[in-house]
Amino acid sequence: MNTYPIELQPPDIQPYRAGNCGIDYVSSFDSGDAGPHLLLAALTHGNELCGAIALDWLLRQGVRPLAGKLTLAFVNVAAYARFNRDDPRASRFVDEDFNRVWSIDALEGGRDSVELRRARELRPLVASVDALLDIHSMQHATPPLMMCGMTRKARTLARQLGTPAHLVCDAGHAAGRRMRDYGEFADEASPKVALLIECGQHWERASATVAIDAMLRFLLHFGAIGQEFAAPHLAPLPASQRVVEVTQAVTIASDAFQFAAPYVGMELIERAGTLIGHDGARPVATPYDNCVLIMPSMRLRKGETAVRLGRIVS
Ligand SMILES: [Zn+2]
Repeated sequence: MNTYPIELQPPDIQPYRAGNCGIDYVSSFDSGDAGPHLLLAALTHGNELCGAIALDWLLRQGVRPLAGKLTLAFVNVAAYARFNRDDPRASRFVDEDFNRVWSIDALEGGRDSVELRRARELRPLVASVDALLDIHSMQHATPPLMMCGMTRKARTLARQLGTPAHLVCDAGHAAGRRMRDYGEFADEASPKVALLIECGQHWERASATVAIDAMLRFLLHFGAIGQEFAAPHLAPLPASQRVVEVTQAVTIASDAFQFAAPYVGMELIERAGTLIGHDGARPVATPYDNCVLIMPSMRLRKGETAVRLGRIVS
């Protein structure tokens, strides 16, 4: 089913295993000066290479924050260790999706999995940072998307970064809470803020360029690096940014979901009532005019999100 070529080389992250703060594959640098604690996260999904490439690149530059504190985390390293070019989609996770276990119930409950263990290990760090950029990629070759969650503050930050061209405001998935929605990140009253960027198709070369550009713009915004460090590696900003508000996620209820066409994401469906798929025997149609399809999935399993539906608001 995967027809996308693997243009990226998965970096060797073994050199970062020991880290420097007591958590494997986490490196933290403190400027000694006042400023926010920033967290860059890669490999939240083990088969999404662009974030690992961006963090590896930044570490090899010998980056040190000019202010505040900067932490770089390779997240689902157990899944990444299983990355196999012949079956590249299989290494998204080991036992379950790391990015669906960030509710208090799951984190503090009795359930165990490779991903829950890693989430419990990273939780104090995630809770302590002021700003998170979680770097992802997508199944389809969709234009890059900044997933802002539901808060104004995250949408504002995405606007301040100026890239990518498409901002998506969404509540996540019925299957479980994302790291980017954990704790104070989702509380409008707290200054803590999180963004999740989808840099393009999992294995396309351009996704690594997008990841490095977004990461540098995030660090620049918070004063962790200077222009002279970033400028040679920045991509041009898009002319404008569009905001799509997700109104609903189509959560799969049957064992046989099928799309009506080979959607790749960001299709604009003009007419309300247009058939976009079948969930078992039940037809799935667009609920309103000018409905945007966001990140249609290839993992069409019961309980998971098939696609999200949104409206362009600006
Ligand atoms: Zn992902």
